[in-house]
Amino acid sequence: KAKGLGKNQYCVYTDEMGVQEIRKMELEKDLQRALEHNEFFIVYQPKWNVKTNQLFGFEALLRWQHPRLGVVSPSEFIPIAEETGLIIPMTRWTLEQACHQCRVWNARGIDQPVSVNLSVRLFQPDILLEWIQNVLEEAGLDPHYLELEITESMVFYDVNDIIHQLENIRKLGVRVSMDDFGTGYSSIGLLDRMPIDALKLDRLFTNDLDTPGKRAIIHAIILMAERLHLDVIAEGVENEEHIEFLTQLGCYVMQGYFYGKPMNGEEMITWIEGHNETGSHQAAATSIDE
Ligand code: C2E
Ligand code: MG
Ligand code: MG
Ligand code: MG
Repeated sequence: KAKGLGKNQYCVYTDEMGVQEIRKMELEKDLQRALEHNEFFIVYQPKWNVKTNQLFGFEALLRWQHPRLGVVSPSEFIPIAEETGLIIPMTRWTLEQACHQCRVWNARGIDQPVSVNLSVRLFQPDILLEWIQNVLEEAGLDPHYLELEITESMVFYDVNDIIHQLENIRKLGVRVSMDDFGTGYSSIGLLDRMPIDALKLDRLFTNDLDTPGKRAIIHAIILMAERLHLDVIAEGVENEEHIEFLTQLGCYVMQGYFYGKPMNGEEMITWIEGHNETGSHQAAATSIDE
């Protein structure tokens, strides 16, 4: 990994630091240039409403095509980007790409919103509202087609400021959802104050529904969301059993490998077309997943 540094340095390097740290340093260094070098790309994952048997929008997920290391996962590079502040220009780029892609889908007759993940760092300089207005305008996209995903842990920063910013963004018509709900430090006490439209149940829940206790918790979350007029979306839906449990508990919007893996904008069009022909998501999903 430390090629080009000479044999001696390579040894010093590995003795003092773990392989992980070296990789992190390397990624940190390379991330600086990744945007200029066009190394990022976005994949999209469909959300599916099993009640209406219809699409429920797409989530934009960032990928980094590293020249030597291959595709790096966002769980690895997002924390680095947050530390270095690069998350700010990266998110701007992601918003632009996602809005543009949504417009392309629109032109192809796909009338679905796209969601973009937001790191808490984006709220620190008060830039988001203006960005979003600009990005939507540049893309010629109606605000109702954009959704932002924020995480629970956000509410530990300047809650009032975040609420204020989100309220203004929502006034434009942009939707907001709380991502990975139930895994972070619980923000249930703030839920009624958060200007959000939906809760996304973390995939840890979906994958752990086999005890009555776990099911009781999810059921309660779903009922609470209903009372708060929030949509509920389950993450990490991988099989029929998950769907059965979730629908029994009153959750009807699913996102996960069972319906579709994250794919690029063009692949999504093929996926949807396959779906329209067969009239069943399952046939379409299988044809892509193999
Ligand atoms: P997330 O927002 O909770 O996104 C869902 C993650 O679950 C994605 O991982 C997706 O590929 C994965 N996933 C979807 N369906 C399944 C399934 O059925 N089974 C399993 N095991 N996994 C599934 P991914 O793409 O690796 O992203 C990881 C996290 O990185 C995201 O979690 C999100 O928090 C963050 N992220 C991704 N793109 C961005 C971005 O543009 N900005 C920011 N700030 N964060 C991002
Ligand atoms: Mg998300
Ligand atoms: Mg999530
Ligand atoms: Mg999650």
